[in-house]
Amino acid sequence: MTVTTDAVVIGGGVMGTSVLYNLVSRGVQKPVLLERTTLGAGSTGRSSGLIRMHYSTVVNAALSWESFETYANFDEVVGGDVGFVQTGFMVFVPEDAIDGLNHNIALQQDVGIDTQIVSREEARELAPAFEQYDGEAFAWEPLSGHADPSGTGMAYATRARELGATVLLETPATSVEIENDRVVAVTTAGERYATDTAVVATGPWSKPFLEGIGIDLPLEATRHEVFLLKRDLGELPFHPGGADMANMTYFRPEAADLTLVGNGNREQSADPNTYNPRPSMDYLEDVWLRLSKRLPGIAGAEFFTGYAGLYTSTPDLHPVIDRVDGIEGLYICTGFSGHGFKLAPAVGTVMAELMLDGEAKTVDISTLKMDRFRRGETNTTSYDFKVIA
Ligand SMILES: Cc1cc2nc3c(=O)[nH]c(=O)nc-3n(C[C@H](O)[C@H](O)[C@H](O)COP(=O)(O)OP(=O)(O)OC[C@H]3O[C@@H](n4cnc5c(N)ncnc54)[C@H](O)[C@@H]3O)c2cc1C
Repeated sequence: MTVTTDAVVIGGGVMGTSVLYNLVSRGVQKPVLLERTTLGAGSTGRSSGLIRMHYSTVVNAALSWESFETYANFDEVVGGDVGFVQTGFMVFVPEDAIDGLNHNIALQQDVGIDTQIVSREEARELAPAFEQYDGEAFAWEPLSGHADPSGTGMAYATRARELGATVLLETPATSVEIENDRVVAVTTAGERYATDTAVVATGPWSKPFLEGIGIDLPLEATRHEVFLLKRDLGELPFHPGGADMANMTYFRPEAADLTLVGNGNREQSADPNTYNPRPSMDYLEDVWLRLSKRLPGIAGAEFFTGYAGLYTSTPDLHPVIDRVDGIEGLYICTGFSGHGFKLAPAVGTVMAELMLDGEAKTVDISTLKMDRFRRGETNTTSYDFKVIA
């Protein structure tokens, strides 16, 4: 049987659901989202959920700042509760990276982000639990925090359904049918969705899925671990979120008495269908020790839980948000390289603009085109990508 629809979104992570919501809320009729298993089953369900604006390129800073407004007011802007918690976020930068810090903060302030470099004394006052090292510098984002990634995907999907979209679970897309250089349908095992518009938002599965339709992009799924530690509240009642460039960790409080910690220094290539989602105890010890060098009060915490998830990384650690030249109606939204959750609201907005207006207006995404790798014109980043999620 063939179902006819204005658009098909492939992938029910935070990107696919945000794109779906933005399309239907702009009048696209009865769009369909196809999800392989369940919403949030990929990177989204394992995301640390950090929402901060510290970036070294304008495009990422602008996407995160634009998204922040939505996260902070999600119920009014979209509808639903995504559990946004404002904690503040501190960036610790060693002496040899202070030039990079100055560059980043100036760039972020130009974008309009509420961020600043603070003195040692101010940093201590804002976050007394943190150890400080000689020569290092500190940046502070008072508005940043975290939210619930699965809950965000669910909220977008729920609102999109209310507006007329269809969300199909346990329904993997098998291919995109292309005739005369145009999308004509998306297929699943049991159905054919006739459409002239398809969006590929398949997270870590994007490389094989795109290869199946003849598109080769430099995407790599990599495995990353996250741990949750239960704090002794007498020792360490609260701390803000942070990214520690000296000890290579990122962290944030979770609920009343947990601290979430992760980092990016043991990244391994992985197959999304077979990777090991369990934590490794030797790595837990390593990351916990490094965290305690910044947050001494965490040394006496208890291990609560841990898990691994997948990033979908590109060579310049920036996503691909683009239309496919030469195939009318095909769009790609992937490669978020471990920091996409915080960008998702704005990604949905710019993707809908690209698809419906012909170009993105809210944020200039010209540096996220898919052919930048072939042209050798990739984005240049600084230290911010070494550890921050
Ligand atoms: C451990 C970890 C920590 C992170 N921490 C942060 C953080 O603190 N802050 C931040 O901003 N970002 C963070 N990220 C990154 C962020 O989670 C991702 O960038 C974001 O979730 C990507 O969303 P997505 O929709 O592109 O991909 P996914 O969430 O992976 O969604 C893709 C979906 O597509 C589905 N799919 C695949 N193939 C098909 C098919 N053929 N047909 C139908 N469906 C298909 C999958 O089942 C999946 O549900 C983290 C990621 C990880 C793994």
